[in-house]
Amino acid sequence: MMSETPKTHSPLQPGALLHKRGQALDKGAPIAPPITTTSMFHLPGQPDGSDYYGRATNPTWKETEALLAALEGAPTLLFPSGMAAITAAFFATLRAGMRVLLPSDGYYATRRLAERFLAPLGVTFEERATADFIAGGFAGYDVVFVETPSNPGLDMIDLADVAAQVRAAGGITIADNTTLTPLGQRPLDHGVDIVVSSDTKCMGGHSDLLAGHVASRDAALIEAVESWRMMSGSIPGAHTAWLLHRGLETLEVRFDRMCTTAEVMATRLADHPALRHLRYPGLPQDPAHNLAQSQCARFGFLIGMTLKDEAAAETFINTCPLIRPATSFGGIHTSAERRARWGDAVDPGFVRLSIGVEPVEELWEAISAAL
Ligand SMILES: *Cc1c(COP(=O)(O)O)cnc(C)c1O
Repeated sequence: MMSETPKTHSPLQPGALLHKRGQALDKGAPIAPPITTTSMFHLPGQPDGSDYYGRATNPTWKETEALLAALEGAPTLLFPSGMAAITAAFFATLRAGMRVLLPSDGYYATRRLAERFLAPLGVTFEERATADFIAGGFAGYDVVFVETPSNPGLDMIDLADVAAQVRAAGGITIADNTTLTPLGQRPLDHGVDIVVSSDTKCMGGHSDLLAGHVASRDAALIEAVESWRMMSGSIPGAHTAWLLHRGLETLEVRFDRMCTTAEVMATRLADHPALRHLRYPGLPQDPAHNLAQSQCARFGFLIGMTLKDEAAAETFINTCPLIRPATSFGGIHTSAERRARWGDAVDPGFVRLSIGVEPVEELWEAISAAL
């Protein structure tokens, strides 16, 4: 199951990405990709590799996957949600008797999936906090799953270090890259075997779709993931793929604005009297700062802020006119929620703030007034 550490990858060029489809068009072809909704394809004679059935392939998925592949620098497969992508990565790598290591402070549904559905199939799983992840070692683990920065705590992990240690121990590393997107960090470039992402968040970016993807430079792994998608029927709809394509075309401009604004907000919030604690990897005093600087292209749009107590946090979230009180993150609207309401192991006053694309001074005025 081992693969070589990739030596080369195509560098990410957002301008070229935007014009990728256009380079191959015939005269009169639409600039925007068509939405193809069909279960059947014209298939006379022997099958020869053309599209043949809607559970196996779809022309609109392929358009979206081409953008995702360019972003990841790797073959990429589209899924109907982030959890569908994570499930595919697990089923492509795990067998009964194997051991998996998961972050105890990562996205909760990944742990619940392992607990409720992998464990009964004979897969053993263990959890470890992101901050102590590397110190624990990786001997005996077949699959190691990481999430960096972790959600919602924003602790970071050295991807190259984990990937090298897991590889040396004979295992496979999967990284959930939802929070930073490939524009913020490309785990495959650090030697990680598989990237999974919830494209429901910043990748789609408009809070109007659910999607996810799996990327890998290991042909055998990608083949297994594609086979899982085909056999399980865990497929995206053509309309969703098209909406995600549309979102991805503005990813660079949205992500740039969101990260730049988050940097300004975090700097101003750092010594605000209404806050007891602040996490943002872009701040020099943040525990994740050095790693973020060496590993990431941007520091992200998520800010972890701890207010006085639950009441103060709820008032802030629900009275600021430029904050949508909502779960999920990464959309164009600034949004926030108290993660303790879902049982995350965080302070009752902890708020995960997801910065949107509002102009920075207008947003700061609203946020500072609400605080
Ligand atoms: C939202 C999220 C998921 C799950 O994605 P869905 O699209 O909701 O299935 C997985 N991992 C992380 C880090 C997430 O934020």
